[in-house]
Amino acid sequence: MITLNSNFLKLQKNYLFVDIAQRVAKYKSENPDAPVIRLGIGDVTRPLAPAVIEALHKAVDEQAKSETFRGYGPEQGYDFLRQAIVDNVFQPRGVEIGIDEIFINDGAKSDTGNFGDILGRDNTVLITDPVYPVYIDSNVMAGRAGDFADGRWSNIAYAPCTAENNFTPALPTKAPDMIYLCYPNNPTGTVLRRQELQKWVDYALANDALILYDAAYAAYIRHDDVPRSIYEIPGAKKCAVEFHSYSKTAGFTGLRCGFTVVPKDVVARTATGEKVQLNPLWNRRQCTKFNGTPYVVQRAAAAIYTPEGKRQVQETIDYYMENARIMREALTEKGLKVFGGEDAPYIWFRVPEGMTSWEYWEELLHKYNIVSTPGVGFGPSGEGYIRLTAFGTREDCVEAMRRLREG
Ligand code: PLP
Repeated sequence: MITLNSNFLKLQKNYLFVDIAQRVAKYKSENPDAPVIRLGIGDVTRPLAPAVIEALHKAVDEQAKSETFRGYGPEQGYDFLRQAIVDNVFQPRGVEIGIDEIFINDGAKSDTGNFGDILGRDNTVLITDPVYPVYIDSNVMAGRAGDFADGRWSNIAYAPCTAENNFTPALPTKAPDMIYLCYPNNPTGTVLRRQELQKWVDYALANDALILYDAAYAAYIRHDDVPRSIYEIPGAKKCAVEFHSYSKTAGFTGLRCGFTVVPKDVVARTATGEKVQLNPLWNRRQCTKFNGTPYVVQRAAAAIYTPEGKRQVQETIDYYMENARIMREALTEKGLKVFGGEDAPYIWFRVPEGMTSWEYWEELLHKYNIVSTPGVGFGPSGEGYIRLTAFGTREDCVEAMRRLREG
């Protein structure tokens, strides 16, 4: 008889955003005229840049002629995009990454979720808490997480990130094998400065651990002492893989494209202790399970690196960051303790004394008609916090803050 991967049965039933959607739907059905503003889910609202649209049209037209038609592309991505990444993302920051260390994907969710395919099932895992849920759930599916009790998985180490430690995770006393770091952070909107990240790189090198570094929000960094890539940190090319996404960088949440960097120097050990490079293994995995990101989408992504593309994309990022500034200011004026939103498109704030995340979440919905995300939905250390995204329209953002100020 066919059996299933019973790890899937361990997954928590209600995905956070489904739960939120249900509560909002119930409220809307009871209050059909309520002018609800959604600042909960991290999806973007601005259209794609004109340079991206132009590249899309051109690539579509190429597909219409036999001389320029493209079928299957390279699983790793087209060289025109991989080279543009090397030249525009890494070289300007003095980071040497080879074209064959870059793998184009259909977004960072797939690769952050899939990368564990090439890692041993018995590896121990560390996540920062609160956390983007994909790192946990993909390890539950793989059988690495253990059992769930009291809001935690028994085989996952949680590094709390709260106001008390300035959202800087402490190095664990017992070294994990896989370390997930996401900076700028979703959900807290906070960052790790160069010195702090260096500590994690040194720790990973000293303990033969792998850092899975999610840089999906790197484009939002403004301060110079915050690294845009972990490879700006000496030693990182030996112990880290890095995930990038065009979703929030350039509005590709619907178009789907990103890339993963797997440096040739990153190794893991066989059961008998022999070192094996991860780069060829990941390549092998991709060639088997992934047939490449669409040509037209990769052309669209490459357009981000043209002079006009860069300017247009930056304008959109500045738009969202102005939203973040407006929200930070209004929430602070209201007397709330606000974090994030300076190098990231997320605002993370403490709920009023004596309330839980969900209690204040309900108050925001019922009293102000604002949909947010309860911090506790991202992990136990998120209790007592709320996340707002800066990806709304300016009008919604200003109106939501007006309600909060006057409420
Ligand atoms: N990583 C983080 C931290 C995210 O917040 C998200 C999306 O919200 C992703 C990855 C997924 O991005 P993509 O749309 O590229 O799959």
